Amino acid sequence: MSDEGLNILHVTPEASPFVKSGGLGDVVGSLPRALRRQGHDVRCVLPEYDQIPLKYRSRLEHLLHFRTRVVWREEYTGVNRTVQGGVPVYFIDNKEKFNRGTLYDSPDRHVQFTFFIRAVLEMLPKIDFQPDIIHCHDWQTAILPLLLEENYSSFDFYSDIKTVFTIHNLRYQGTFGPGIIDDTLGVDWDHWHSGRIRHDGMVNFMKAGIEYADKITTVSPGYAREIQTSEYGEGLDYALRMNSDDLEGIVNGISYQEFDPAEDEEIYSTYDRHNFQGKRKNRRRLKSEMGLAGENDRPLLGMVSRLVDQKGIELLEGIGSEIVDLGFQFVVLGSGRGRYENHLQLLAEKYPDMVAAAIKYDFTLARRIYAGSDFFLMPSQFEPCGLGQMISMRYGTVPVVRETGGLKDTVKPYDEEGGTGITFSEYSPKALLTALEKAAELGHDREELEKLQKRVMKKDFSWNNSAASYDELYRSLEG
Ligand code: ADP
Repeated sequence: MSDEGLNILHVTPEASPFVKSGGLGDVVGSLPRALRRQGHDVRCVLPEYDQIPLKYRSRLEHLLHFRTRVVWREEYTGVNRTVQGGVPVYFIDNKEKFNRGTLYDSPDRHVQFTFFIRAVLEMLPKIDFQPDIIHCHDWQTAILPLLLEENYSSFDFYSDIKTVFTIHNLRYQGTFGPGIIDDTLGVDWDHWHSGRIRHDGMVNFMKAGIEYADKITTVSPGYAREIQTSEYGEGLDYALRMNSDDLEGIVNGISYQEFDPAEDEEIYSTYDRHNFQGKRKNRRRLKSEMGLAGENDRPLLGMVSRLVDQKGIELLEGIGSEIVDLGFQFVVLGSGRGRYENHLQLLAEKYPDMVAAAIKYDFTLARRIYAGSDFFLMPSQFEPCGLGQMISMRYGTVPVVRETGGLKDTVKPYDEEGGTGITFSEYSPKALLTALEKAAELGHDREELEKLQKRVMKKDFSWNNSAASYDELYRSLEG
């Protein structure tokens, strides 16, 4: 096996710090850097949305433009470029396609992302970058392996390219009526008849990724196992079982530069394991900013989450008063489904001194919650990997999580060897409450709690381990 670096292109619908709607953005914002440190030539490409802040868009360098064909449409395709953290990042520019005020909710999103994929493949010889590996992320880019095989692989330039497809969340699949085969994809109907792009009478982009990529990964070994069962398989468990030899789970990391309590300028006071005063200060300031009253030592439970079914918010609905009765103060930041937003707002109105709900997306407040809380709650119904629990541990905040997917892989019960959190298994309010009772008990013994918090901070969730696993995977594809 050669030790020479590989040419790797990440094709992604989002990447931090440019544009991010969830964990995928964080991952693609930091994994390529870690892979470059392994000696690979790693680059990224994403759509140039209007959501990308002007401070980034204004420093892009225009490289070239050409026209991309999507069946009968000829589309303007600009390629702009910057370098972020040492990683060259390309942006596919077409204002009509990507200046929509929404990332993934346009009715013609199949056209947007088919255009994007074709534009990326057309771009490669023009920028003179011949990848050994193209690494695609989630449904938006899942048809790349199919289009590569169908339209490009007979040309020398493309014939040796291998593909990896990572599932960050199986729930969002990209499904469209079969009319798009002629109208947008422009591929042979054999792909439909064989069932490889079809599920439940619809074209399913996610399934195409599973069927056509050379390797499939997902973001934790636990989720890799779970999605092969009907309970977590979102209808695609059979396809995943059929491709299980090519399926691997690699747990995400987090950027230890970006998330660093000793350096973080967003939090009230920096701290580390040896200087824990700062963490106490963060708790006090956070409580007062959020209007929570009472003594600083009362344990603070934090939550930062999309408020969607996946995140287990429904489990909180019946036990809000019990959380307060246990002696916690509770601060939650998130937005999403109206039912959950209302519930949390009502809870905060009922207990104004004890519960605070910020219904919004707020980068700075998120950091302050990670730093200022004693415990961090993630009672997810399912969780491909989860970043929140790892960020919280980096900030010395004890995670309280349901034992599912990546949560189970990254958080072991604190009373076991090397354990760092509080976990529960059954998806029920009762089981969650039992876990919170344990947390409350610990929370009222400050000395014990701080001992655990300091231990939690020692865990290593940086990208080093995961990047090494991806390195191995890429090399396994190299003939
Ligand atoms: P998912 O990708 O399913 O939303 P993850 O735990 O993998 O869940 O990643 C979520 C990321 O988004 C974390 O970095 C979390 O802090 C952040 N996040 C979620 N909701 C908010 C919010 N309302 N404000 C700020 N950051 C948020």
